Amino acid sequence: MGAKIIDGKEIADQIRKDLTRRIAKLRSEGVTPGLTVILVGDDPASSSYVRMKGKACKELGIYSHTLLKPPDYSEGSLLGLIEKLNDDPMIHGILVQMPVPEHIDVSKIVRAIDPDKDVDAFHPVNVGKMLIGESDGFLPATPHGIQELLSRSGHKVAGKHVVIVGRSNIVGKPLAAILMQKNQAADATVTVCHSRTENLKDITLQADVLVSAIGKVNFIKADMVKEGAVVVDVGSNRIDDPTAPRGYRFVGDVDFAAVKEKASAITPVPGGVGPMTIIMLMQNTVQAAEKALERQGRPKV
Ligand code: NDP
Repeated sequence: MGAKIIDGKEIADQIRKDLTRRIAKLRSEGVTPGLTVILVGDDPASSSYVRMKGKACKELGIYSHTLLKPPDYSEGSLLGLIEKLNDDPMIHGILVQMPVPEHIDVSKIVRAIDPDKDVDAFHPVNVGKMLIGESDGFLPATPHGIQELLSRSGHKVAGKHVVIVGRSNIVGKPLAAILMQKNQAADATVTVCHSRTENLKDITLQADVLVSAIGKVNFIKADMVKEGAVVVDVGSNRIDDPTAPRGYRFVGDVDFAAVKEKASAITPVPGGVGPMTIIMLMQNTVQAAEKALERQGRPKV
């Protein structure tokens, strides 16, 4: 029997409806959520992600502003720009598209963004709040999207063994931090694997929920998956395909055709984690605007 497909587009649409309502409420109070995206350089993949983010904002009625800067844009100029945006009351979220060119120190950029406008949730203040389990920070879009994907599709992780393959700062590590929290939407037992993990297959075979975030085509084979496991494929790998309209297409890390015969549920690529990442960024922008409004309403002390 084939696995149930966890439809990321459908779940993202549910969240979109909720955001539409929240944005209408903000507008009725005179606030339009605003997001600035800064792209340094002309990397085609980054340009395409930035366009997708702009499009998602437009569809929802979020004011968005994309600043395209040349590849030799200096670190000092970028820091100056972020400082201005930190002070701009129309802008609630600031996102610097990664990766930035090598002459720019990423950690300086991440720390320069006001944590209250850090919708990517990369600032150490937000990373720390996530780990401690404080709910007033932002959660990073992809791992938060995976949590929503699982809970809204009826796959509770509480008490389950979640095995995450990949320990990057944008997916693996934060996902582990989110799913191990002491709350009803988490409470999982989490194992994180990486390229130095020994006997990987022995560990993935223990997973009730297996998440792959490594960026390697067909890496997760059916013999690495326990019968009835839930499989989340974060991988987004571009492969040549002369039959595709653009000559290429995206596939995940999981050998989908074989694994879907063994898993009880699985996310497809495309149409699984990808749509969730974008909508969770939109949610963070709306949250940033709501918090800004709340701060405005607070009496000055
Ligand atoms: P990184 O390259 O930053 O991290 C990859 C991780 O995989 C590392 O921790 C690495 O281990 C681990 N790894 C690599 N090879 C192996 C192996 N043979 N066995 C076990 N672990 C291995 O990638 P990202 O986290 O940024 O992205 C991962 C994938 O997810 C990519 O395909 C990316 O495009 C996709 N992605 C998709 C998103 C979406 O919205 N759909 C969002 C973000 C990412 P080590 O640390 O030891 O090097």
